[in-house]
Amino acid sequence: MPDLVMPDTVELIRAKRDGRVLTDDEIRWLIASYTDGTIADEQMSALLMAVYFRGLRPGELRAWTAAMVSSGERLDLGAVSAPTVDKHSTGGVGDKVSLILAPLVASCGAAVPQLSGRGLGHTGGTLDKLEAIPGWRAALSATEMIEMLIEVGCVICAAGPGLAPADRRLYALRDVTGTVESIPLIASSIMSKKIAEGTAALVLDVKVGSGAFMQELAAARLLAQTMVGLGGEAGVRTTAVLTSMDAPLGRAVGNAVVVEEAVATLRGEGPPDLVEVTVALAREMLALAGIDADPAAALAGGRALGRYRAMIAAQGGDPDAELPRARHSEVVTAGQTGWLRGLDARAVGVAAWRLGAGRARKEDPVSPSAGVLCLAKPGERVEAGQPLLELRADDGSRFARAREALASAVEIGREPPAKAPLVIERVSG
Ligand code: URA
Repeated sequence: MPDLVMPDTVELIRAKRDGRVLTDDEIRWLIASYTDGTIADEQMSALLMAVYFRGLRPGELRAWTAAMVSSGERLDLGAVSAPTVDKHSTGGVGDKVSLILAPLVASCGAAVPQLSGRGLGHTGGTLDKLEAIPGWRAALSATEMIEMLIEVGCVICAAGPGLAPADRRLYALRDVTGTVESIPLIASSIMSKKIAEGTAALVLDVKVGSGAFMQELAAARLLAQTMVGLGGEAGVRTTAVLTSMDAPLGRAVGNAVVVEEAVATLRGEGPPDLVEVTVALAREMLALAGIDADPAAALAGGRALGRYRAMIAAQGGDPDAELPRARHSEVVTAGQTGWLRGLDARAVGVAAWRLGAGRARKEDPVSPSAGVLCLAKPGERVEAGQPLLELRADDGSRFARAREALASAVEIGREPPAKAPLVIERVSG
């Protein structure tokens, strides 16, 4: 934005600190100048903290998000004749929905461009999971990605460095300045990447509960409404679904174990909670794409498995290869007989992370074989001494810390738990 004469950065930080509404030009200048290195990290840190406390008005948020999109390239998916529709999850424990949903929705006639990330902290990243498959490659050029959308109908790959580079810098700074948990900053971060990806439609899976970013329903709803609004304003038809993340989704948490569960689900043998969430999201995606198809029947009949195999093979992976197995395993058993009333998603996520399935810093490697298998799920009857969780790790010294994370994860009682909905509500534009 060099041709704009701007007040100095300190003046804009003070303005936001004191609650003045920033103009579109000021916001464009701030984001562009931070991305090109003109504004220093310490100044942007102060501005982010001011945004954290003051928030952004709808017009400011629109300008902020648009400036983040304009910081890089915007993919053109015009060569893809099928309607494009993507899904984004705000992150959960045992969330392997993307691996199933992309081929499922493609098998019903849409094209699914899934630019995904790696995991940080207790929630796993889709790319880390797929990298458990020997030979599979996350990095694709834009041309390769578009070819896959045309030929296979779906692709899951890493977002290239040219896509919303402002977010890459801002997110890293938020991570170390206590400014991640801000609804306008989260919404602009997620939506800038999805808008830049070029999809025509988007379904957001906003997780709510102990294992999610948003633990309160009201905050999750506000985040969903904010993102749906931003999508609509940018011309991306967007719907959000709020889903529960109090217990892990399905039975597998980690990387290779998650791929195995996703493949079983694509064969029509998935656990009911995972199938329910996947089908609910698939219905929303197909509705936005204008396709009249029954994803439940497609999933139960195993129709999407062929698409999954083609998607993996097109990225160098061998869908028939044996997945890595951990060298060590231990079980956590039930302390008493009764009903399993709760299995805390966050605790299980932290345990899987400590076993090696996740990373603490973004440059850390992950273990493809580490993870947790939930041998019992809330709502099931259990006997004292019965194995509830199987912990897997390559490094046996990791079990003790994982067990610490699980110390109060399991709740067993005399009554079965009340049935709470998995799909809580939908937010549309
Ligand atoms: N995921 C993102 O991409 N950005 C955020 O700010 C939070 C979660």
